[in-house]
Amino acid sequence: MVYFQTQTVPIAESQERMDPPYEKSRLYALRHSAAHLMAQSVLQLFPDAKLTIGPPIDNGFYYDIDFGDETFGDSELERVEEKMRENASRDLPVAREELTRNEAKERILTLRQDPYKLELLDDIPSEDEITFYTQGDFTDLCRGPHVDSTGEIQHFKLLSVAGAYWRGDEKNKMLTRLYGTAFETAEELEQHLINLKEAKKRDHRVLGRQLGLFTFSKSVGPGLPLWLPKGTIIRDVLCGFLKEEQVKRGYQPVVTPHIGKKELWEKSGHIETFKEGMFPFMERDESETFVLKPMNCPFHIEIYKSEMRSYRDLPIRYAEFGTVYRYEQSGELAGMLRVRGFTQDDAHLFVTPEQLPQEFKGVVELTVFVLEKLGLKDYWMRVGTRDAEADKFIGSDEVWRVAEEAIVKACDEMKLDYRVDVGHAAFYGPKLDLMIRDAIGRVWQMGTIQVDYNLPERFDMEYTGEDGKPHRPILIHRAPFGSLERMIALLTEQYAGAFPFWLAPVQVVILPIADRHVEYAQSVRCGLLEADQKLRIEIDDARDTLGKKIRKNEMQKIPYMLIVGDKDVANQTVSVRDRDDGDLGPKPLDEFVALIS
Ligand SMILES: [Zn+2]
Ligand SMILES: [Zn+2]
Repeated sequence: MVYFQTQTVPIAESQERMDPPYEKSRLYALRHSAAHLMAQSVLQLFPDAKLTIGPPIDNGFYYDIDFGDETFGDSELERVEEKMRENASRDLPVAREELTRNEAKERILTLRQDPYKLELLDDIPSEDEITFYTQGDFTDLCRGPHVDSTGEIQHFKLLSVAGAYWRGDEKNKMLTRLYGTAFETAEELEQHLINLKEAKKRDHRVLGRQLGLFTFSKSVGPGLPLWLPKGTIIRDVLCGFLKEEQVKRGYQPVVTPHIGKKELWEKSGHIETFKEGMFPFMERDESETFVLKPMNCPFHIEIYKSEMRSYRDLPIRYAEFGTVYRYEQSGELAGMLRVRGFTQDDAHLFVTPEQLPQEFKGVVELTVFVLEKLGLKDYWMRVGTRDAEADKFIGSDEVWRVAEEAIVKACDEMKLDYRVDVGHAAFYGPKLDLMIRDAIGRVWQMGTIQVDYNLPERFDMEYTGEDGKPHRPILIHRAPFGSLERMIALLTEQYAGAFPFWLAPVQVVILPIADRHVEYAQSVRCGLLEADQKLRIEIDDARDTLGKKIRKNEMQKIPYMLIVGDKDVANQTVSVRDRDDGDLGPKPLDEFVALIS
């Protein structure tokens, strides 16, 4: 239904906006071929290794390999890369052949007797063709496509080794995943490696720990974040900001429970289409089964349905910071980007067909306003429309035409950068996904706005029209942040932990040089709070040297440090250190207040 959080890691912009799409591009074939080159080289060095799957991914490729009892680490990875260069320079032609199922089985058994490949062969639907690709001494069951020769794979690098379960299922054997990347040119490869280094410095998992934003506990369970006090401040500030904007724009806050009866989720279609993504159901006795909510929509619909609605009541806009739970395989959890419990800045708008264009535009306006405020100025929209040829989309042509026009018109009128992706609509209506380019050029898919004709139908929603007859409202789902978890991860990486003043968990830290200055530090804090009682101020009165205290607080990336010593006490000043501009010298308190307000 409405999968707000796609939960993918950021990708390079070049391939997101690629035309033709990445999967059909030469870069995709090149990376796939690099994965084969890597597998070939692995087998030359480790003849007993068993291959599983090796697909291209955003930014590169990997191969999952079963090394049995052999250990495989960074030094082995280096050897494989060396071997790859050798095999690439041999310029081996890559040949494709098509086999029958029996021939294919025979081939796998005579080749290396890979049990995994036999399993994969069984998975290929009977109507699909079965193909093998061969280069030199290496043959692999593979759908392709590939480049014509290993000599075309010039600019590649192996990156890391990780563990991965066969088929992503933690009940299965742990395999070794070898990650690498490949590009068309040396320059692109080099830039990517620089970006990777920069990304490492900004990693929200590392900064999250360093800045005291969030943590995970084995006892609580993987993918279930625990927000620490400083992370909670950022959450509260973000929620407060959005709540205020929403009230201005006619949204009404609602609160709904975390569980609901199974029947509700049958009606919504989630159990039919999204069961894999849901936590196991809770059965109290035969008559009642409860479900932990993966989405908020059905609850808001029930609120709508709690009263008779007339066209005069519409539009209705219900907003909730709703925490939802989705079952992700624990092997796939990655900091805040893939979690099992997260809070959406969710809202559902119920509108008449006539109101749809205006309301849709209003939602886009709010979204853009939010992004600009967060300093995320580099973004574009991906408009998912229907492929009129495909039959998976429900609803009449007219209904689709109106909705798609409303989206494109809103984008045009607001002069937004957008790209139409035909066929990428949800089955129940068109949508607009928000793509944000971060400070180092990676693209994050964040919030989305979706037009939905399906749920109103399923829940038999109505309002009385001007004609006195019952009509069906249209539902708009939207979440500008996507989720708080994802947004805070993005902001942390965007700002490398140095949050803008209004978001910083601690805005000012006062550093008394010695114990005798603590009292003055406290009076400085009182003075600041008098000027603005919402200021977030700390006093660091630890008995460390000043140098040590400064370094420690620099690590916390606090916007302002106020150092107070004898001279400051005597002159009633504070010595200001700006996070970006460094030492600003001593200033009277009111001058500092003017600086920050
Ligand atoms: Zn392949
Ligand atoms: Zn929804």
